[in-house]
Amino acid sequence: MAAIPEATVTFGVLNETSEYESRVALTPDIVTRLRKAGVSCLIEYGAGLPSHYVDDDYIKAGAQVLAADEIIAQADVMGFVDRPSNELVSRMRQGTWIVGMLDSFNDDSYIAQLAQARMVGIAIERLPRQLSSAQSMDEMTSQNSVMGYKAALVAANAYGSFFPMMTTAAGTVRPAKVLILGAGIAGLQAIGTAKRLGAVVTAYDVRPASKDEVESLGAKFLDLGLDFSKGQGEGGYARQLTAEEQAAQQAAVDKKAADFDVVITTAKVPGRKPPCLLTAAGVSGMHRGAVIVDCAASDLGGNVEGSVVGTTQTEGGVTLIGAPYLASEVANTASNLLARNVADIVSHFVRDGKLSMDLDDELDNALVVADAQRGASSMNTLVVAITLFVLALLIGVEVIGKVPATLHTPLMSGANSIHGIVIVGVVIVAAHADSPLAYVFIFLAAVLGTMNVVGGYVVTDRMLEMFKSSKPSKAGADQDKEGAK
Ligand code: NAD
Repeated sequence: MAAIPEATVTFGVLNETSEYESRVALTPDIVTRLRKAGVSCLIEYGAGLPSHYVDDDYIKAGAQVLAADEIIAQADVMGFVDRPSNELVSRMRQGTWIVGMLDSFNDDSYIAQLAQARMVGIAIERLPRQLSSAQSMDEMTSQNSVMGYKAALVAANAYGSFFPMMTTAAGTVRPAKVLILGAGIAGLQAIGTAKRLGAVVTAYDVRPASKDEVESLGAKFLDLGLDFSKGQGEGGYARQLTAEEQAAQQAAVDKKAADFDVVITTAKVPGRKPPCLLTAAGVSGMHRGAVIVDCAASDLGGNVEGSVVGTTQTEGGVTLIGAPYLASEVANTASNLLARNVADIVSHFVRDGKLSMDLDDELDNALVVADAQRGASSMNTLVVAITLFVLALLIGVEVIGKVPATLHTPLMSGANSIHGIVIVGVVIVAAHADSPLAYVFIFLAAVLGTMNVVGGYVVTDRMLEMFKSSKPSKAGADQDKEGAK
């Protein structure tokens, strides 16, 4: 057995607190893995129990089992399945690293809270999944795959008939017709599982590559007669459809859904609200006893109109299950896979025996969403901005110095349009500002810009008045004529 190096970094994991969560971000197998990477492990009492890992197993693997406050006080880096609550974050020490799905695409204020608390946020949802070095860190893949498997089982369980064809003495029962919408990691697992259960499976996805993947699993690809391949999202992922495309897709899916006994939806677009694929009209078009499992259900809405987290029965007798938490229902294995993903991310950031980041590294740059270091790099940005400002002032003074004094007033009045642009810039910058110093500069720029715009218009107005009053009057013109004689 390879010698265990002396640990120089401490990793901590607490009990997960969200309602549907049974997974844990550290398992005994992974304790051993982390110790080999020079990381010691702390876990809260009972944290592994919902996923069937007992404290003794962690201790045997070399972890310490402690109370939450002791872990918060000692851990350099903490791992989470669901991101820690704001209250929990406020109890953590400055400089603590947190690793988890932080919802950084949708919740800027949470990330700002981490940055303000001088904590380091490592957002797994930002993992560049195409990088081969990131494969073992890909929590989305590991958990979606578990979710897809379980979605097929949940659907089979809720359906009032068999998935396979059954020939009995009392007659033959036809196999269930299952439609999978979204044939990514979760969808492909759902296809495989539903096929193994004997259902007749059809699937659909917007990505052109998915047709071959679906067919290679022995399922039929649903042809909606629509082509969304143009403008495919980055890295081969789905892009968000336009409103017209979505309406066309919904109408086509609504119509087709009526032919199926079971619909499982897994369609997502990274970092965006899930697209609604099946409307309420499509749901009510399905037969009594049909089952829908919406794995994309969320507070923002899901793939099926009206789906909520949990199970509902529609008036037409369709069972609608909102189930984004299904990976948590296979908690033992899901935790082991997830803990490996988190541990590999932690180990990636352990360099020369301590946690550190290299923002020139593609992985680090993508994953780090909050840190004191970036605060420092925004100071550098500030220095650059001030230097540019001073240079612009020097050039401005030099240019204006060369303009004859009589032209200064028209020049000034013309500057008002330029300051209009400054105010637009101020509004844009204000939307992203996160420090008191930035607010001071934004305020100054807004006040000075407004003074110039208003001042510019006042000066222009005065100049126009001067032109009007210097128009030769009739008496003046007669006097001029006299003078000429
Ligand atoms: P995901 O969870 O973001 O999306 C699930 C599926 O929903 C995707 O296949 C997507 O195309 C589909 N979808 C989105 N909008 C849709 C719509 N309006 N209608 C129908 N379907 C829609 O993605 P995922 O499952 O994690 O991965 C998607 C693809 O990326 C997969 O093919 C996977 O193989 C690939 N992938 C590659 C790597 C890698 O290169 N290492 C890693 C992970 C995933």
